[in-house]
Amino acid sequence: MRREAETTPMTLGNMRANGVRSLIVYCGACGRDAVFNVDTYPDSVPVPAFGPRMVCARCGMIGADARPNWTERQPPGAWAPR
Ligand SMILES: [Zn+2]
Repeated sequence: MRREAETTPMTLGNMRANGVRSLIVYCGACGRDAVFNVDTYPDSVPVPAFGPRMVCARCGMIGADARPNWTERQPPGAWAPR
């Protein structure tokens, strides 16, 4: 995978173009992670913008690590044994 994220933050539009419609939000304080659906947000929102706004449902920590939920991109059976 190419690494362009350091210079150009991925936006929700970029992410959707790759077939991903949700984020994984990870709490660095307690280790909780959760899928966050972003269907209601516009394409122009950068993915890193979500992290600082997140509040952990378990420990109350403000600020989390948000990243595209890449695993949902794989269609069922994509890696099925043969
Ligand atoms: Zn937490």
